[in-house]
Amino acid sequence: MTKVTLMGLGIMGQGMAGNLLQKGFEITLYNRTSSKAEPFAAQGATIAKTPRQAATGTEVILSMVGDDNASREVWLGDEGALAGVQSGAILIECSTLTPAWIHELADLAIERGCKFLDSPVAGSKEAAANAQLALLIGGETDTIEQARPVLEAISRRIVHLGPTGAGATWKLINNMMMAVQLAALSEGLALAEAAQLDMEQIIPLILNGASASMIVQGKLPRILERRYDDTDFALKWMQKDARYAAELADSLGLSLKTVPAAVEVFQMARDKGLDDMDFAAVAEAFRE
Ligand code: NAP
Repeated sequence: MTKVTLMGLGIMGQGMAGNLLQKGFEITLYNRTSSKAEPFAAQGATIAKTPRQAATGTEVILSMVGDDNASREVWLGDEGALAGVQSGAILIECSTLTPAWIHELADLAIERGCKFLDSPVAGSKEAAANAQLALLIGGETDTIEQARPVLEAISRRIVHLGPTGAGATWKLINNMMMAVQLAALSEGLALAEAAQLDMEQIIPLILNGASASMIVQGKLPRILERRYDDTDFALKWMQKDARYAAELADSLGLSLKTVPAAVEVFQMARDKGLDDMDFAAVAEAFRE
């Protein structure tokens, strides 16, 4: 039985852990807040106290944490996972992170005789819980094939986008486009309200009009009900993705215009204390 470690038991990691356990892998889990890991012990998971302990003696190590800082926290340092990995292990970083950090991490993995994949995911809480994620992978074909049973346990689709960093790069581009669409929706609603249009007429016009992308259609019901708890994807993480995308563009000599503006709109919502709410709460940015 393959020994698999997962670090990070937030909204996405919890679903992924459940599926890995269900598929019969020998699982070790680590989460910074240990209370989130404890329920999985009853399902047969081993709970590690540190990332280093979690990574020791396992063949495949997945990470699903918030941002670059969180990823650095779990992989680096005396108690980090890289201090515990065995040569030949496959390290899979599933969080949405900067390609710059992904390349640094891949180099550190290779220095230790490990293999590395960046595999951010498409799909949210429900897809994670039901093994319906799409995996957006950068790395070597051979490594994907070696890791395939683990990858298939958490996903419905595996897309190999290119070498290391390709998965991370595409994920940021995808999410920056969603961030811009929701920031525009937030502004559109605010302007329609300010102009005293009849919102009962406007909402169906949005939903049935050309500006209703899948993400607009998906988030509008939450916005109408102002139902932002029961988060699928936190506002602070969507802003992080748009910010990382803008930084990536800068590093490539491309100066984006709408993405930095969307980052600002998300910041207005963050300033209202909505960090951990679903990112549909960006609609509150312009509300009194
Ligand atoms: P989440 O619910 O906020 O969970 C974040 C996880 O990261 C928790 O396990 C948290 O530990 C850990 N963490 C945060 N800061 C840390 C630090 N400094 N050191 C160690 N651990 C730290 O987030 P999520 O929704 O599961 O998202 C995880 C990743 O997937 C993010 O990169 C996100 O952008 C990406 N993603 C999310 C979705 C979605 O729909 N939710 C979809 C696709 C991709 P604690 O429990 O101790 O706080």
